[in-house]
Amino acid sequence: MSKKQYERPVIQQLRTGITSKFGAAFESQALTHIDGVAVKDLIKEFGSPLFVLSERKIRENFKAANRSFKNRYPKVQFAWSYKTNYLNAICKVFHQEGSWAEVVSRFEYDKAIKNGVPPSKIIFNGPDKTDKDLELAASNHSPIHIDHFDELYRLKEIAEKLGRKIKVAIRVNMDTGVYPVWDRFGFNYENGQAWEAIQKIINSDTLDLVGLHTHIGTYMLTPNAYAVASSKLCYLAINVKKSFGKVVEYIDMGGGFASKNTLKGMYLKGVDVVPSVDEYADAITSAFLNAGFPTEDLPFLYLETGRALIDDAGFLLGSVIANKRLSDGRKATIMDFGVNIMFTSFWFDHKISPAQQSGGYTEDTVLYGPLCMNIDVLRENISLPPLNTGDQVVVHHVGAYNITQSMQFISMRPAIVLIDRNGKANVIRKLETLETLEKDELMPEYLEKIDL
Ligand SMILES: *Cc1c(COP(=O)(O)O)cnc(C)c1O
Repeated sequence: MSKKQYERPVIQQLRTGITSKFGAAFESQALTHIDGVAVKDLIKEFGSPLFVLSERKIRENFKAANRSFKNRYPKVQFAWSYKTNYLNAICKVFHQEGSWAEVVSRFEYDKAIKNGVPPSKIIFNGPDKTDKDLELAASNHSPIHIDHFDELYRLKEIAEKLGRKIKVAIRVNMDTGVYPVWDRFGFNYENGQAWEAIQKIINSDTLDLVGLHTHIGTYMLTPNAYAVASSKLCYLAINVKKSFGKVVEYIDMGGGFASKNTLKGMYLKGVDVVPSVDEYADAITSAFLNAGFPTEDLPFLYLETGRALIDDAGFLLGSVIANKRLSDGRKATIMDFGVNIMFTSFWFDHKISPAQQSGGYTEDTVLYGPLCMNIDVLRENISLPPLNTGDQVVVHHVGAYNITQSMQFISMRPAIVLIDRNGKANVIRKLETLETLEKDELMPEYLEKIDL
């Protein structure tokens, strides 16, 4: 056993602030380091604003979720949802952990191939696959998840053209007790379309039904919805066996587990109320185990968990540009990052911590981004200690969707660093420049010359 390192004791001042029903309000407590690296140093080296991802946290999250499902059910496979965060370095961390890839577009499919994922381990979802996309995925033996009848018919033609059977699953939507029902993707369970699609596939001799898929929604706060969805898909699978003698190899329960963010308008904080992965795992695996499959027919359980695995591994560091008083007397602070790189601030009240120690005093503050548009509001109301120009903050839980949905608008997109398990900060995407923005622009010749 290696010798344990000595760590000197530290005394930390407790800053309790106003209490909530769960005790002290810690929001205004400073966060000075991420995985042992000083926020100040990161900003000094890579600029502000800056996205920071913790590799340690991603791996921890993945291992915990994988363990949670594998302890409860014998056949489990995760596939990383590319659109949640498709920086190649991030995808590779998940693939190193054993995750397959789940993609919803051709460029994501190509990315997964380039990242070295065997094509048979790339799940191709989404309503918009062209004939070319389908042909490629079919020749590669990637599982194709059919979204609508038109796609089903096109696939039959493609199978005939290629002269081979194509492995498919159908996406199913259903009433899970959570409204509104996401019924725009896939075939509906209750109105019989899912069963109709199954029959059409089984009766064709060109398509091979290997799986059933659903993705019931995102940021789902009720594990029971997964229990209902699992039961319905298991019921379909059992009926496929009964009616056609065919064993469905896998059931893919999609993603949607809530991350620990706080939804706007939610009374309690996300960290206090969001179900744990264990609760989702209980709901899903109990339904699978109680569905009545003979042991030899137990399907593989696929999961396409996105946000719950990465959100809390992502941070956005930024700096204060200025303070001002609004006409109604409220304090306003303008930050150097806006909604163009923090898209999820439209529906979440992100936790934001100062990156330096301050006194115990806090004040209700409106936090604005730097963009010249009125909707650039990061938090409508947050209790923060006084921040001066140049002071820094850390936004929590931005690992999911912010980077993939970000855009250059008024400001360029910041650099992104991954802190590895040795505490080294690796740039995994560079700060954008004017060249990045203009790379694909073309100038008609007659517009070259201006004369002012
Ligand atoms: C977006 C998406 C996911 C991931 O969803 P999360 O809410 O991030 O877990 C999984 N599967 C499909 C089909 C998706 O579209």
